[in-house]
Amino acid sequence: MDSTVYSESMQKLIGELSRLPGIGSKSAARLAYYIVKCDDDYPLRLAEAITGAKANLRYCSVCHNITEQDPCVICSDAGRDHSTICVVEQAKDVIAIERTRQYRGVYHVLGGALSPMEGIGPEELRISELVSRLTGDVTEVILATSLGVEGETTAMYLARMLSPLGVKTTRIARGLPSGADLEYTDEATLANALDGRREIS
Ligand code: ZN
Repeated sequence: MDSTVYSESMQKLIGELSRLPGIGSKSAARLAYYIVKCDDDYPLRLAEAITGAKANLRYCSVCHNITEQDPCVICSDAGRDHSTICVVEQAKDVIAIERTRQYRGVYHVLGGALSPMEGIGPEELRISELVSRLTGDVTEVILATSLGVEGETTAMYLARMLSPLGVKTTRIARGLPSGADLEYTDEATLANALDGRREIS
């Protein structure tokens, strides 16, 4: 960014906005101009929404989904099937699967996928936390990591690790486009992928 062009406050705002995923310096500048141009209390409400979310949201101590209450509403729902755990990479994948309205089990959020390139090994993910949940009550683990190379690698790793534990392990079906992120997959396709899951070992 050319620091001689923007005032100090503007430069700071653009700098912070451009850290957001998918926001380049041009988009950041556009957003910054929009925010400062608003003469109502929008900038204040935006700032409060951000600080409020940060202050009130935490990770569920059971499934590691993002939540306001711990355990989260899904983990504390007695009406859900606690014998089936759907393993996803990110909290936003839980939202994607919940939108299908087809799944009644619970979740486990890994916090990412295995990626030797980025130095993400099994220790960086919540894998030991998953294993510690596999008590006698759990009958199926659905591996719903993404269908890209990293998601597949993670699914294979987990399948190998879970195999000796005697829990049925399934993988969402290949109806999804290769490399698909769950969050960009429409509800019907995702519901079919869950429905068509196959046992792996
Ligand atoms: Zn939870």
